[in-house]
Order: sequence, then C-alpha cells, then structure tokens
Amino acid sequence: VKSDTRARLRTLYPDFAIRAVRVLEDIWRLWRLEMRVTEAVRTWQYQEELYASGRTRPGKIVTHAKPGDSIHHYGLALDACFAGADPFLEKHPHGQEIWADFGRLVRAHGLDWGGDFIHLRDQPHAELTYGFKLHEIKELYRHGGLTAVWAAVDKHRKVPEGQGWMGPRTKVKMVAMGGIGP
Ligand SMILES: [Zn+2]
Repeated sequence: VKSDTRARLRTLYPDFAIRAVRVLEDIWRLWRLEMRVTEAVRTWQYQEELYASGRTRPGKIVTHAKPGDSIHHYGLALDACFAGADPFLEKHPHGQEIWADFGRLVRAHGLDWGGDFIHLRDQPHAELTYGFKLHEIKELYRHGGLTAVWAAVDKHRKVPEGQGWMGPRTKVKMVAMGGIGP
C-alpha cells in the first residue's frame, strides 16, 4: 500500500475510510491487484477547476457538482484506481469484470458506487452520506465546517462524537493487502 493512499484515507471520515479499506482488501483477495486512493477530501478551488472543464475551459465534462456540491469536500467520498501502468484496467483482459467486482464490493460494504450513477457514470468513485441530503451537509458545514458534518454523522450512527477521527499520525491498517510499505 502506497503512503499517498494511507495519507488520503486519513483525511476521510473514519467509518467511511474503514469501509473503503475493506473494499480494497477484498479486491486484493479476489484479484491480487492493489488499488490506490487518488482523491479524498477535495478543496473548493479544485472543484472549481473540475467544474470548468468542458464548460469554460477545454476538455470534457467531468463533474456536474459545483464547488460545495461534491461529497468529496466532506470526507465522505473517494476515487480509486489500480496501482501500476494501467490504472483503469483499459488493457486488462478482465477489466470490466474487475470494475464490476469493485462496484459489488463497494455496495456490499454499504457505500454508494459511482458506477451506478445515471447522469455521469463514475466507476472509480464511492461515497456515503449516511442518509443526509446534500443541502443538510452544506448547512452543517456552513455553520461548523467539517467538524459539524462529522459530528452529525457520529450522532446519526449513535457513536461518541469524535470517535476514531483520524489525523496524520494515525496508522491505517491494511492487513490483507500485499506490499505493505512504510
Ligand atoms: Zn469522485
């Protein structure tokens, strides 16, 4: 597991990160392929740039979410791909099958899969809003930032506030995966 993946996982809401790690471990068990987390908590500015692509800037449309409207801002979404030279398995003979397994495992661990999105299918994407609507999350964030969003999710899950919230020094355990590095 690459250290950039660990660092990104630590920025996520912990229960979401734990579920994501289980997906990555299951893919490892099933296909012996290592996955990377390429995006976790996303800044407003970066979302602005993504939203501009295919609209006010050249390129194709990659998102329908304006800044503030992406679940990526709130530590409740991630994008993943495969380690190595073929990150989206475009040349892999079982590429589609493996992505389908990824989607199945994402759902099995209780997350929503971007491959199921109707408007902009996004296979590398997984998210979980724990039943909260986007406008509710935005309202919480407006008043108390990420802390308020996560505290509301903790309350909804009936766990003590702040339990397991991670920081840069927290170790992310991925026991089943090969190549466990620094
Ligand atoms: Zn995404």
